Amino acid sequence: MVTKQDFYGQLSHQLRELDQLGFPAERPLNSPQGPEIVLADGRRFVNLNSSNYLGLAANPEVVAAAKAGLDQWGFGIASARIFCGTQVVHHTLEKKISEFLHTEESILYNSCFDVNLGLFEALLSPEDAIIWDSHIHASSVDGIHLCPSKSFPYESNDMVSLKKALIQAEEAGARFKMIATDGVFSMDGIVADLKTICDLADHYQAIVMVDDSHATGVVGKTGRGSHEYCGVMDRVDVITSTLSKALGGASGGFASGRKEIIRTLRHLSHTSMSSNALTPVIAATAIKVIDMISQSNELQRRAVDGADYFRRQLRAAGFNALGQDIPIVPVILGEEKATMEMGRRIYERGVFITGIIFPFQPMGMGMVRTQITAGHTREHLDRAITIFTEVGKGLGIIK
Ligand SMILES: *Cc1c(COP(=O)(O)O)cnc(C)c1O
Repeated sequence: MVTKQDFYGQLSHQLRELDQLGFPAERPLNSPQGPEIVLADGRRFVNLNSSNYLGLAANPEVVAAAKAGLDQWGFGIASARIFCGTQVVHHTLEKKISEFLHTEESILYNSCFDVNLGLFEALLSPEDAIIWDSHIHASSVDGIHLCPSKSFPYESNDMVSLKKALIQAEEAGARFKMIATDGVFSMDGIVADLKTICDLADHYQAIVMVDDSHATGVVGKTGRGSHEYCGVMDRVDVITSTLSKALGGASGGFASGRKEIIRTLRHLSHTSMSSNALTPVIAATAIKVIDMISQSNELQRRAVDGADYFRRQLRAAGFNALGQDIPIVPVILGEEKATMEMGRRIYERGVFITGIIFPFQPMGMGMVRTQITAGHTREHLDRAITIFTEVGKGLGIIK
């Protein structure tokens, strides 16, 4: 007979295997999030590992807005939106998001993970089809699994493959078709080709869903996101995104787009209907954040320009540093063991990063994903570049 002990044995075995993949354990911070962080043992690091792109996670104005929001609205709401979980502050923020993104309406969730889990099933039926980029975020992959529609993945950001998938969906007799993509693929360092996606969507009469979690607030001329960057501000049907990255880094997500879509999510999306409303503290604070970034692009420019500088310097040193116009600089290091050793040595020298290898990356494509924020000074970046260069030379990754 299989025993309960076997279950724990199986978990332990799996945990040892995961350990062998070389992922470091959690390293608790003893400081707020920022360009420099302090660990529990007192060591100080330049931090290139957070999505705090605008540096607002511990910004004094943002913290003050959170305190005021707490005083005005209380700590929790203890109710789903439809019961008594909607406060004026939720509607104010939803309106602000719509204005910021140039969309018709918006709806808040507790996270973008929740949005993506609850969106597809609420909007589509078994007769319909989802045509999805193979590199979309895990939350959308899971959301698509929860949805009974036909499913057609395409090669990431490959427009020939997308076109084929659209034709396949049509041949399979799909009624409605929805294309799902991320706006920015953070591991690949690219912005999705939303212009071509929208053109193909028009031609094949498909609905376009873009998860812009890594772009909202920071990508595009005024930081509206990848739809602004690609010149398709009014052509995306629904954007999903997060408050947990550039927009303050606490938590919370939203969907924003065509009003029929947003209203349907309000009524039919399980992860909104059957979950507590977003805490009002976050809603009040996000209003402040959007006001700040609507008035000035300075933080956005600092993040993108800093990344541009960091990328150029790494390339000059011989690294394969990816990306353009985004605050993310993936650095491909190659072979798994060398990648993990490089990650470890850089970390030992005071730059907080994490090596990422198979199965999260293809074999031989080990990498570190560095993220530059508005709070990083040139001195921080120069220090990191020196360490990357010295360690990379020591390991023979660069010459
Ligand atoms: C971070 C991220 C999410 C999840 O956002 P949360 O609000 O933190 O749950 C979803 N999609 C993408 C593309 C992300 O990068």
